[in-house]
Amino acid sequence: MKKPDDMKLIVKGKRLDGRKLDEIRPVKIEAGVLGRAIGSAYVEVGGTKVIAGVHGPRGVYPKYLEKQGRAILRVKYSMAPFSVNDRKRPGPDRRSVELSKMIKHALEPVIFFDEFPQLSIDLFVEVIQADAGTRAASIVAASVALADAGIPMRALVSSCAAGKIEGKIVLDLDGPEDNYGQADLPVAVIDGTEEISLLQLDGELNEKELKEAVQLAVSGCRVIHDKQKEALRRRYQ
Ligand code: UDP
Repeated sequence: MKKPDDMKLIVKGKRLDGRKLDEIRPVKIEAGVLGRAIGSAYVEVGGTKVIAGVHGPRGVYPKYLEKQGRAILRVKYSMAPFSVNDRKRPGPDRRSVELSKMIKHALEPVIFFDEFPQLSIDLFVEVIQADAGTRAASIVAASVALADAGIPMRALVSSCAAGKIEGKIVLDLDGPEDNYGQADLPVAVIDGTEEISLLQLDGELNEKELKEAVQLAVSGCRVIHDKQKEALRRRYQ
């Protein structure tokens, strides 16, 4: 989206919401927020609010999707009609299909699928308010919901975006920054490793900027990861 000429996203080294360039928005995570799902989590990153719920492991329908000797993960990301300024048309669209796939790929490397042959782990993520970074918040919520459901995993997955606005690399873009910025780079990291399970780039970065942005996003993932662990500890205290 083209930025109005008189609009400044950085003023005296601070962003429009008062954050420093390398500062993440306030993060709130709660595990076990739903009574009917086997595992669930609520995540708030600034104005972005998502809720994730898990069903299963359970039988796979339709049956042809069943995998011999291992479970499958099915992910459905959706945005509530009231989550954005212009009412979002309910139901799946190309973007939600793509994001469901990205979330699935980001989480699959940590799940021990062999423990539940022929079953399905079904994960639903609902965006109830969107202010950029919904895929990152979805991965964060999904990871906590899976842990809350007792799904065996080798680690949690954390996620955060970095990006470029007015020529500067910044952490965790909000809505106006995402709309009027030059690049958005969501990253997901498998905790305790250097492994990145999601890296997308919307916009343009040169090699130096890309390295800087990945490093910054990874540092955001560490902050998120501590909050994920705290949420799970609180749940089981
Ligand atoms: N957005 C919107 N309407 C839509 C889709 C997206 O207003 O139908 C906004 C929303 O704030 C979202 C942002 O655009 O968070 C950026 O969307 P993007 O596809 O880049 O994914 P995200 O950053 O949410 O992972």
